[in-house]
Amino acid sequence: MIESPTGGSGPDPSQPGTFGDYECDAPLALVESAVDAMKSLHPDPDFILWTGDDTAHVDDKYFSTAKVVDIITSLTNVPPKENELQTQVADLWKDWLADEYGQFKFSGSYSRDISNTSVSVVALNTLIWYKSNQETASVSDDDPAQLFEWADATLSDLAKRKRKVYIMGHIPPGTFERYQQKKEGFHWYQDRFNKKYIELVQKHAAVIKAQFFAHHHTDSFRLFFDAANATHPISYMLLVPGVTPWRSSLSEETGANNPGIRLVTYDTDTGLVKEVSTYYLDLTQANSNEKANWKLEYNFTTEYHLKAINPTTLYNLTKTMKTNRALFDRYYTANTVSLEDPEVCQAQCQQLHWCAITEVDYERFYQCNAASSMSSWAAGTLAAVGALVLRHRQAG
Ligand SMILES: [Zn+2]
Repeated sequence: MIESPTGGSGPDPSQPGTFGDYECDAPLALVESAVDAMKSLHPDPDFILWTGDDTAHVDDKYFSTAKVVDIITSLTNVPPKENELQTQVADLWKDWLADEYGQFKFSGSYSRDISNTSVSVVALNTLIWYKSNQETASVSDDDPAQLFEWADATLSDLAKRKRKVYIMGHIPPGTFERYQQKKEGFHWYQDRFNKKYIELVQKHAAVIKAQFFAHHHTDSFRLFFDAANATHPISYMLLVPGVTPWRSSLSEETGANNPGIRLVTYDTDTGLVKEVSTYYLDLTQANSNEKANWKLEYNFTTEYHLKAINPTTLYNLTKTMKTNRALFDRYYTANTVSLEDPEVCQAQCQQLHWCAITEVDYERFYQCNAASSMSSWAAGTLAAVGALVLRHRQAG
């Protein structure tokens, strides 16, 4: 495990608490406490999904900004073919990857059956579709590293074998639900790859039981709909919160979060997710007590009064959340892992979350987000930013 730096560029990052600071990445003490908490919650899980972002977001005394950018650039600009980075990691993980070694070396992706269950995990190297990946940005090829072709064939094969699939990756498709600066929002994949990903899910929705992605450091979810019926939900993606509390530098409102980890309970035969329990650390409290007291933040089914977690129940929840402010407040509180007051997210912000959850396609997201008037949208954004600043001052 790599120690993340404790320095940063916030108000007083030179003196972070024992477990870190909202302006900084996770120090080793925080990472270790998260692993210890996971171990005490469930010492023997069937498997662990490690959703990435292991490199530093900020510079410190060990890493200059230039060094951090250098590392991130070499990890981001992944050529869509065998390369030094993937080859070295593949060699490192050779025993774990077994017969997926070659595929991993080629595309950084692999699939694995989970022993004694019907579940298989398909891990996708979505950096290949990342719009900041200079190696694929200019490539006219519609399928760099033939990743879509491999995913399509793999999902077909798993369906034939009657397996139940969890797709996992780091950078998700769709739009970041916290970015309010532009009507079109902020997204990560190149548009053509975002579209192809949606088509992949639509084609294989029957075998995909859940998708797990990260990168936003926030707690949210996304819905995928039938290609022929835009109101028929067929699949869902859970976005998992980060252990790092680091305040996103993307814009003021994207903000920080409390550290969070998750325990997912599932049916080993059907692959259906039965419960998602999120545990969190109140970072301010942990630092003042000098003790990391990880607590249950919420159980998904009880928090949202769901009998089951599936595309239909999540769609119904989302529709209710659109008009039921108390329910939206619960979702919004969870979104930053119990850090931000939902008061900061008023009508336009609420609409943006709704659009991000229900419209993974960029153009459809834009249409959804542009549906409200520009003047109320701008006012809503300013109010939200003002409330954020107030809250930080109160907290400080
Ligand atoms: Zn990331």
